[in-house]
Amino acid sequence: KTDRQREAVFAAIENVAARLAEAKPYLTELDSAIGDADHGSNMDRGFETVVEKIEEERDSDIDDIIKAVGVALISEVGGAAGPLYGGSIMHASDQLSEGLTPESTVAFGEAYLEKLTDRGGASVGDKTMVDAVTPAVHTYKKSIENDDLPAQEALAKAVDAARRGVEFTVPLRANKGRASYLGWRSVGHKDPGAASTLLILEAILESAED
Ligand code: ADP
Ligand code: MG
Ligand code: MG
Repeated sequence: KTDRQREAVFAAIENVAARLAEAKPYLTELDSAIGDADHGSNMDRGFETVVEKIEEERDSDIDDIIKAVGVALISEVGGAAGPLYGGSIMHASDQLSEGLTPESTVAFGEAYLEKLTDRGGASVGDKTMVDAVTPAVHTYKKSIENDDLPAQEALAKAVDAARRGVEFTVPLRANKGRASYLGWRSVGHKDPGAASTLLILEAILESAED
């Protein structure tokens, strides 16, 4: 079982890296509008490094593989998003010590969101990745705990919630990060970090479906 989960985790991470590589021009465009145009290259380079680094974790437990993802992102990606993604993944990886279960993945999501908001100090409505992560985590938890959906269906619901979260950032004025320097001029654009969060969730769902 562990072997199968490990293979699934590697496949998902590789798919995330491939999707982010494809989306590099898109994320660059989003970050050009309200930032410094590096979010596409930050995420692409970050996950390229992740894919290299996790080769050393071929026989590791799931939590250690995920921890290595976080460490690689922190070490490779500067700026705001690298430490926020990396630190939150690293912190939340502890929840996966028993492997992937509906309960452990809910706990992972909650720990990820907690660390993200602790570190970055952003709340829903500040036009950051928090606007995609929050509805995704809450929807995933509710789908598992209240609606008893299988994990994959819960994840599909979470992806839909994240997609609405990304759209929700468009009319907002940014209150955190570089985009906040623009004040009202940040209105009318998607937040790049919310968009990359959605891409990552879509890639994980896509590999869970095959
Ligand atoms: P930088 O802004 O340093 O160039 P990136 O372009 O890689 O870093 O990432 C920008 C993204 O980081 C933003 O679109 C936003 O989603 C996210 N972000 C920035 N500051 C914060 C924060 N304090 N809390 C949560 N997310 C943040
Ligand atoms: Mg940037
Ligand atoms: Mg930057």
